[in-house]
Amino acid sequence: MSPERGRIRRRVARDLAALRPGEQRGWWLREALSDDPGAPARPLDDEISADVVIVGGGFTGLWAAWFLLEHAPEIRIAILEADIVGGGASGRNGGFLTGWWDALPALVRSFGVEGALAAAEAVGEAPKRIGSWTADHGVDAWFEPGGTLVVSSSPAQDEAVDDAVRMARELGLADRFVRLSAADVRARCASPMLRAGVLVPGDANIQPARLARGLRRVLLERGVAIHEGTGVADVREEGDGVRVASNGGGSVRARRAILAVNAWAAGLPGFGFGPRLITWSSYMVLTEPIPERLRDLGWTGGEAITDLRFTNHYFRTTRDGRIAFGGGGGRAGYGGRLGDWVTHDRGSVELAARGFRRLFPMLDDVALVDAWGGPIDIAPNHLPAFGTAGDGHRIHWGHGYSGTGVGPAWLGGRILAALAQDRLDDPVARLPMVGHRSRRFPPEPFRFLGARVIREAIVAKEQRDDLGRPVPPPLRWLVRLPRWMGYDLGPD
Ligand SMILES: Cc1cc2nc3c(=O)[nH]c(=O)nc-3n(C[C@H](O)[C@H](O)[C@H](O)COP(=O)(O)OP(=O)(O)OC[C@H]3O[C@@H](n4cnc5c(N)ncnc54)[C@H](O)[C@@H]3O)c2cc1C
Repeated sequence: MSPERGRIRRRVARDLAALRPGEQRGWWLREALSDDPGAPARPLDDEISADVVIVGGGFTGLWAAWFLLEHAPEIRIAILEADIVGGGASGRNGGFLTGWWDALPALVRSFGVEGALAAAEAVGEAPKRIGSWTADHGVDAWFEPGGTLVVSSSPAQDEAVDDAVRMARELGLADRFVRLSAADVRARCASPMLRAGVLVPGDANIQPARLARGLRRVLLERGVAIHEGTGVADVREEGDGVRVASNGGGSVRARRAILAVNAWAAGLPGFGFGPRLITWSSYMVLTEPIPERLRDLGWTGGEAITDLRFTNHYFRTTRDGRIAFGGGGGRAGYGGRLGDWVTHDRGSVELAARGFRRLFPMLDDVALVDAWGGPIDIAPNHLPAFGTAGDGHRIHWGHGYSGTGVGPAWLGGRILAALAQDRLDDPVARLPMVGHRSRRFPPEPFRFLGARVIREAIVAKEQRDDLGRPVPPPLRWLVRLPRWMGYDLGPD
């Protein structure tokens, strides 16, 4: 083993000895709740009525409520959330508030050039619009318009930078990216492992739990009924509306329902979402505050940085001078179920910590003080879909963000509000993700077994890439298998 690999291995072993993933909420949510725990939102235990009932208090459900109110200030909305608002992925993510300019290849493959451009334009508004929304409503979500740096972190990724730039140029979007040399990249963040890349200047980053809790406060002030600790057991059309029943004996009768439950959709009975979603986990680690070390790195511009692995490493700074670092490869779940593997998986924390220690060798003396995981919903084309279920067209749904949902969920909320208000001529209701049905994944147990095997292959291949070692042909074929089977998943 090389001295460098030995260093990383020993350092990560010390990190893991100190980290307890899943034993408490992630740092973002603890920080947001300590700043403002918010007004109580009691569990639902009686029968109420509303115009629209929203299941799920993450960004998708919260933005849907906001856009419903924008078009009909008197509308009566109830949000039912099993945990607390922001308790799901929305309060645990990296806070990368991105458009889809770097997802153009996947968008073009799914929707053609015209559809891809329409979708990317619509999501591309999210960073700016969320930034002005937080300012208008006094929500201090640490909005930082520093752009995203999409960089290569090993020679195997260099080609992907060129591909992204070439595609942008072909589509007439060259102005959305700034091409950066390795020296330019390191002037912004002096990691010796970072190579050339592109800056997407329109992107931003946020403290995600503060945004979720801020949305909660604003919605409560606007009269939305929010019930936390209210898991929904049954959603059905009844009479000329819908009836949504909670585990605790409460229920809501409404004209329309919106299902905004992210990866939990895969286990929701009666809608057939399961075959088109794989539940997956994603993990982050967090350093102690090191503002002076960030200055030494020259990383003071608030850039959020992601590399170009499929199991990408994404990292950003926080207002109090920490590094939050995610990725490296989570795990697939079986049969749409979520469990402790989403929050307590030390193996996934190890991969994130290993990525951090590889990219920042000069921070060996800096402690990782927190680690947490959350669920993501992998779609066959790696893009979300939105639609309407039920014979009476009264139940609307949106999910499948595949690990990139902070900006897209803002658009998702707009789309779902338009569907629930029958504003079908709204341009967002005509985007190609609306009504899109990707192909199904193979049935269980093949889905789970296949996802696990291919995940191990991708992790092994990308570790070899990092070390500059050749990838044996069987491994190269295995990681391409999902694409050969028609899924837009895995390395290109
Ligand atoms: C570790 C991690 C890092 C990530 N990093 C990024 C990033 O940097 N940038 C990015 O764009 N995306 C990122 N993502 C993805 C992003 O967080 C999600 O795509 C986005 O938050 C999805 O929002 P949502 O509202 O659809 O889901 P969620 O926020 O998960 O909300 C769904 C809610 O539904 C509730 N619920 C589920 N079932 C029920 C039920 N039966 N009854 C009542 N309530 C229910 C859940 O408790 C949950 O609160 C990351 C995800 C994770 C886990």
